[in-house]
Amino acid sequence: MHISQRKRLSYLNIMMFRAILLSWTLLLVIGCKKDLPFFEDATCFTNISVIDPEHGLASDQTVIIKNNKIIKVADSNSLDLSPKNNMVDGTGQYMMPGLWDAHVHFAFMEELAPSMFDLFLAYGITSVRDTGGKIDFVKSYKDKSLQNPETSPRVMIAGPLLDGMPNVYDGSDASRPPLSVGSSNIEELTKNIKDLIEKDVDLLKAYEMLTPEQFAVLNQLAQENGLKVTGHVPLSMDVITASNLGMKSMEHMRNIELSCASNSTELLEQRKNLLYDGRNDQGGILRSRIHSAQRANAIENYSEKKADEVLDALYKNQTWQIPTLALSTGFTKRPFAKAEFQESFKYLPSSVEENWKNRITQTIKQSPTEFHHQYTDWMFKMVKKINDKGIGIMAGTDCPIFYLTPGRSLHEELSVLVKAGLSPLEAIESATIRPAEYFGIEKELGNVREGMLADLLILDANPIDDINNTLKINSVIRNGNLINRAALDKLLNDLDTK
Ligand SMILES: [Zn+2]
Repeated sequence: MHISQRKRLSYLNIMMFRAILLSWTLLLVIGCKKDLPFFEDATCFTNISVIDPEHGLASDQTVIIKNNKIIKVADSNSLDLSPKNNMVDGTGQYMMPGLWDAHVHFAFMEELAPSMFDLFLAYGITSVRDTGGKIDFVKSYKDKSLQNPETSPRVMIAGPLLDGMPNVYDGSDASRPPLSVGSSNIEELTKNIKDLIEKDVDLLKAYEMLTPEQFAVLNQLAQENGLKVTGHVPLSMDVITASNLGMKSMEHMRNIELSCASNSTELLEQRKNLLYDGRNDQGGILRSRIHSAQRANAIENYSEKKADEVLDALYKNQTWQIPTLALSTGFTKRPFAKAEFQESFKYLPSSVEENWKNRITQTIKQSPTEFHHQYTDWMFKMVKKINDKGIGIMAGTDCPIFYLTPGRSLHEELSVLVKAGLSPLEAIESATIRPAEYFGIEKELGNVREGMLADLLILDANPIDDINNTLKINSVIRNGNLINRAALDKLLNDLDTK
């Protein structure tokens, strides 16, 4: 054979080999395409950044939601999906767990309560913990939520504040609606607690006029029934004793200042006398008198050593804190006076909107005193100290008290928690995984993980860069139901055009 002929032959061989290789590759690709995963009746969010409240941000993730569950979370690069899937491109978006407001009152303004579900959802709050109200009233909201989980926030309830006598929230005026049940003795209290347990409450709330004996019985009964006790430390007790008795969380860090003072023993004795002397007065008036007489004194006598002893006990007993910092520092910081906050007032019923605006005009005429500033500084310092110590913090607002719009005000709380020294991720943790842990449902809720319930928030900006980005809500997913921006705006518009 001639050399040039042989060359041409080998050239043909190579071309043939290439053609075969190409067809095999094509077959392989086509074959694979056929097997790309398809998730029927599911929504696949691709290339989205996922915020895990414990571990931070993971970019370019694919999250697949089917019915009310997250069925897959994976790197978008590692998961090729069949084009037949219902895909949503999440480029530039951030998915995080739905938010909790761990301190709300449906019963504080009954005329506002019917608007609260939509307000919470429109602002990305997918779960709330009601910390006090008439049992039948708050239970009706819990039941409504259980019946319509796709269009309501999850509702956990304490029932009424369990108080001693004279009880504080006795319904004597608008600032003290009948949120509490007062018990004169242990038998009465036991009966009241048993009634609540029968009505399936999720926790119990202790209040300031309970005697130490009543408080001990409350904690005992709660433990026997697997319920947590939250509340205000009773005025007749110190914080360490209350925590040692099993109190699992404290609201507003109320009365903690008294136990952190160098003269705490004297203050407690004085308080017991004031309680005795005022035993026939109205509860709310008596409580205000005691706070006015003692709080400034306690703050002035703040002792680092005493505070460390208190925090050691809280840490040892895992007694968590719900500082309601926006509320507690509201008189000096005045979030309600800001135009962007007042924007949310138009979604309130007209009577409430008008009432708040009028009262705010009066409130802002009163300047904060030296004491108000000291108390604000103390709250900020203590929140940081509690967080540094590793004591659990939950974000809660106390809405709708003190002009705090349901939903909108939780974002204010997150913002002030960061100002007090929490990282944005810790603030997010306090409104997601922490409340889920508190109720023992952290395997189902509070994170973006496979197998968890799809209560989620999709944001247009990164909340780890700036906590205020939790307000840049693109969509809310509640129990698997996607409520996009247009639908959220419709919820708000319907409230506005009431
Ligand atoms: Zn409250």
